Amino acid sequence: MAKCDKGYHCKVCGNAVDVITDSDLYLRYLLHEIQAEVLHLEPECHIRCNPERAQYIMDPSFDDLNAEKILGPFAKNFLDDCYVAEEEIRVTAAWLKLRKLADSGVAILDYPQT
Ligand SMILES: [Zn+2]
Repeated sequence: MAKCDKGYHCKVCGNAVDVITDSDLYLRYLLHEIQAEVLHLEPECHIRCNPERAQYIMDPSFDDLNAEKILGPFAKNFLDDCYVAEEEIRVTAAWLKLRKLADSGVAILDYPQT
């Protein structure tokens, strides 16, 4: 009997993305980088498996990534200060929204993006 696949698997590590707060896809949705209509067509990925974005989450509940070690010259420490500051605000806000959403039990597509 075929094993039933539950949920979505991360395109980077291959493990299931079990919780919404691990979902890079939903984070992208809240960042307005992806439309609701194509959400189910896009590959899923853990937030931490996408350090290019995850390095901008500045919240005590999000463990530091050690971006410099993982990303080398692409770590935010080597990028433009203004750009980094803006990205930190933008990505952290979306991450906090995602956490709030996870706590509220509201379906993601019912949640206003703005
Ligand atoms: Zn992963």
